[in-house]
Amino acid sequence: MRGMRYVSTRGGGEPLPFCATVLTGLARDGGLFLPEAIPDVRDRLAAWSQLSYPALAYEILRLYADDVPAAALRDMIDRSYATFRAPEVTPVVAAGDVQILELFHGPTLAFKDVALQFLGNLFEHILARTGGELNIVAATSGDTGSAAIHGVRGRRRMRIFVLHPQGRVSPMQERQMTSVLDANVHNLAVGGTFDDCQNIVKALFNDLAFRDRYHLGAVNSINWARVLAQIVYYFYAAFRVQERTGARRVRFSVPTGNFGDIFAGFVAQRMGLPIDRLVLATNENDILARFFDTGVYQTGAVAPTLSPSMDIQVASNFERYLYYRANGGARQVSRWMAEFQLAGRLVLPAGDDLIRAGRCDTAATLATIRKYWTAHRYLLDPHSAVGVYVAGQHLDPSAPMICLATAHPAKFGDAIRQAIGEDLAHHPILDALAALPTRCARLPADRAAVAGWIETSISGSPA
Ligand SMILES: *Cc1c(COP(=O)(O)O)cnc(C)c1O
Repeated sequence: MRGMRYVSTRGGGEPLPFCATVLTGLARDGGLFLPEAIPDVRDRLAAWSQLSYPALAYEILRLYADDVPAAALRDMIDRSYATFRAPEVTPVVAAGDVQILELFHGPTLAFKDVALQFLGNLFEHILARTGGELNIVAATSGDTGSAAIHGVRGRRRMRIFVLHPQGRVSPMQERQMTSVLDANVHNLAVGGTFDDCQNIVKALFNDLAFRDRYHLGAVNSINWARVLAQIVYYFYAAFRVQERTGARRVRFSVPTGNFGDIFAGFVAQRMGLPIDRLVLATNENDILARFFDTGVYQTGAVAPTLSPSMDIQVASNFERYLYYRANGGARQVSRWMAEFQLAGRLVLPAGDDLIRAGRCDTAATLATIRKYWTAHRYLLDPHSAVGVYVAGQHLDPSAPMICLATAHPAKFGDAIRQAIGEDLAHHPILDALAALPTRCARLPADRAAVAGWIETSISGSPA
């Protein structure tokens, strides 16, 4: 049997097998990779429903990662989720009218650990087989940087360089990154904004000579392996809620920024998981909520909010969704993306029965945190609160609502204090950070300075 191949949303290039897809990251024609076909697993749901999280992850991932030997895949899944502090990995707890899927029990207390712990192990496996090395370069406004660092720290054949805007990430997020002292971890505080950091990273990747010479790798959510790892918890949570409530169909509410997390739910539904609605929740940065209401996809300015990991202008994974809206017509996707690039605006006809959207502003976020604490003694972080608030507009007695909780509240203690008036949100890992030593280089917001710094540290330290 021929294995799974991955194609670009824009139709260019040859289809690639899984491991090559993961190493390539972004397709060479600028598109994003998707599997040629999504497997239908409806006849396996009953058998899967009693599996532990790692066992379920193995069954799902092996359908897509079919060029990784079975024993190696099992082993890397076990190691990835052994770092989580909850025995169930992603437990589901009932609170009020909804079921909360807690995705924040990983090393950095954010849902990105679910994918980045796995991706670190996967990179290591692929590089051990190919004998190559990888230099991951990423820009972060907070959560992605620390989750990526914790996924890669201490691994052989890999270095990671994370650029953050100096003084513009929360002190807690900065310490989560800079207190990791492994030799292969390099934090760069850049004297500029997050956009400056992102532009420098983009310029380094677009410099193909530099990119090839130093084997640059990407860990942002355009990497297919990140979406893939996130599919698992949609199945796991649906099974838990089905056995608890007897319901057949479920709904999910997803606090959304770059559309990576909710896209994993979209794939789970296409695999045959009985999801009758995906609720897309945004904060004031509501380009996606506006699109699902009106069909118009149009950029605006980014407004800072209490849920910074959802403060985006364009959603990098949205192109994957467009590919299905075009029924796999890569030429149509290319035309749409070109039109959007040119006009900053794209209009699509109605045509989605699965996704509904809503937005939640700062006042509603604070009120939701307060309400869930006073009425249910459940502490929501501001991102999760956005999802819970919008979920409230899409409740259906026959399909329980599962709300994705994407960060531990202690990561956003200021918002909790603002909402409740008390300093309630703590976690021993974060409390311990204050006493740890840190390491970080300071650089100007200048591409050549960053490139030079990366070159020097690569030649000075074998991976
Ligand atoms: C990244 C992130 C999100 C948004 O997820 P997307 O995949 O970008 O839509 C939501 N909440 C938290 C806490 C995050 O870190």
